[in-house]
Amino acid sequence: MRLVIASNNKNKVREIKEILGDRFDAVIPMREAGIELDVVEDADSFMGNARKKAVEAAALLPDDAVLADDSGLCVDALGGAPGVYSARYAGEGHDDAANRKKLLEALSDVPFSERNAHFACAMVLIRPGCGEINAYGRVDGKILFEERGENGFGYDSLFLYEPENLSFAEIDAERKNAVSHRRNALMLVLAALKE
Ligand code: IMP
Repeated sequence: MRLVIASNNKNKVREIKEILGDRFDAVIPMREAGIELDVVEDADSFMGNARKKAVEAAALLPDDAVLADDSGLCVDALGGAPGVYSARYAGEGHDDAANRKKLLEALSDVPFSERNAHFACAMVLIRPGCGEINAYGRVDGKILFEERGENGFGYDSLFLYEPENLSFAEIDAERKNAVSHRRNALMLVLAALKE
């Protein structure tokens, strides 16, 4: 059976293939499966958004397994914000830099000890004739007072990974992928598939 990823992001597809590749005949992005999805991500949880994408893709691909994910950054001092709004925290049409600027401003008075945050990733796998697999991964860290590092995307340069005292934009990509919220969710999906 093929596994179709409800995304066209090459890095995501490669990472998923690395971990789940042995369990399927092929792992491909949705474009390669001949579908386009324009899902409105308006659920109030990462899992809700991931499920929406998975269900819509599965309806178009009844013979394939389908995997969808949704992720973002949750900051304790902001009651979990930006959360499901991570990609559009500074408003529709704003970029990652604007989102980071808004986050720094929102935390300007918050001391280091209270800057706990985590990246979260929800995954939903739907296989024809089987139950749904849900997995939730996270990685904990702290929000820095200024950006550090040039790698990565999104909030990486503001996210301090404490075990290495490096931001996710300073750490090399392979190392980040080994400890990330997405990796943790994927390992849970793999464990559920092995059950
Ligand atoms: P998506 O679920 O891949 O669409 O991610 C939603 C948003 O969460 C992104 O636009 C980023 O702002 C943020 N985000 C998710 N994962 C990461 C990460 O690994 N590093 C930095 N930002 C992330």
